[in-house]
Amino acid sequence: MGIDNRVTLSNGVKMPYLGFGVFKLGDGEETINAVKVALQTGYRGIDTASYYGNEESVGRAIKESGIPREELFITSKVWNDEQGYNATLAAFERSLERLGTDYLDLYLIHWPVPGLFTETWQALEKLYHEGKVCAVGVSNFEPHHLEAISRVSNVKPVINQIEFHPELIQGEVRDYCRSKGIQVEAWSPLKRGQVLNEPIIQAISECYGKTTAQVVLRWCLQHDIILNVKSSRAERIKENADLFDFELTKEEMGEIDSLHSDSRIAHHPDNMEFYEKTVPGFVKSEYSS
Ligand code: NDP
Repeated sequence: MGIDNRVTLSNGVKMPYLGFGVFKLGDGEETINAVKVALQTGYRGIDTASYYGNEESVGRAIKESGIPREELFITSKVWNDEQGYNATLAAFERSLERLGTDYLDLYLIHWPVPGLFTETWQALEKLYHEGKVCAVGVSNFEPHHLEAISRVSNVKPVINQIEFHPELIQGEVRDYCRSKGIQVEAWSPLKRGQVLNEPIIQAISECYGKTTAQVVLRWCLQHDIILNVKSSRAERIKENADLFDFELTKEEMGEIDSLHSDSRIAHHPDNMEFYEKTVPGFVKSEYSS
């Protein structure tokens, strides 16, 4: 496996294993510079979202890179306050315009907003049938959310992008997705740097002469999980792509798995308070039975 490797999603679309995430990169120079370094390094997947407020800068970096659009794999996401059928169709057009492209490779529902996400999915289904997006998927979905989608649609999500790192190995969601042919993609695979001082990971990194970040990212890849990693620094962007000249043993994979403590950096997807804060007019009591 190398930096160019792609996984074939259930609808036949090929997606790079290595993706560059842009959450928390400032709109303007910071995003433009980081995305350009990532593209020069060989990343071809870029993960953004309307919520990140930097789609325009991502689009500018892509244009200035000179890399043909068809070589790239661009993901964006519909935010919580944009959900619902018509609102999602409009949000998608705004993302396209900001990114300066006439199609997306992948469009995701950012979070499963109760009472809205099935309608939102039907909008994604329309965009997919119209050829405006090559693949559609979800993010932060639990099995019960995926079941709800399967009851209203014949189009299956190809991706579930979830929080995944050594302290949150998401056994149940991964098993469910595997059984349904849904590819799992990690967000915050480094737990935003919080797992990099773990003694087990440090010991493994010394054996291979790699950094702890490289060991964690390699562990994700060997779990057959698509990577989505962010850095604002050129040297780390390069470091995080240098993952293809070593292989962890089964025992080392197990040691890293054993760090699981069910510890999240974001909300559990069933946390109603989160939706009250992110969806205007959302009333928790209407949805919690
Ligand atoms: P990551 O796990 O990718 O960690 C990023 C943090 O780790 C940054 O603070 C970065 O600092 C630091 N870092 C990066 N590389 C290294 C390294 N080699 N050594 C030491 N520190 C390092 O977290 P993110 O939350 O950014 O997740 C990745 C992407 O996933 C996001 O950018 C976004 O695209 C997506 N995401 C999706 C979510 C969803 O709900 N679907 C939620 C959150 C993220 P520095 O920049 O200073 O290098």
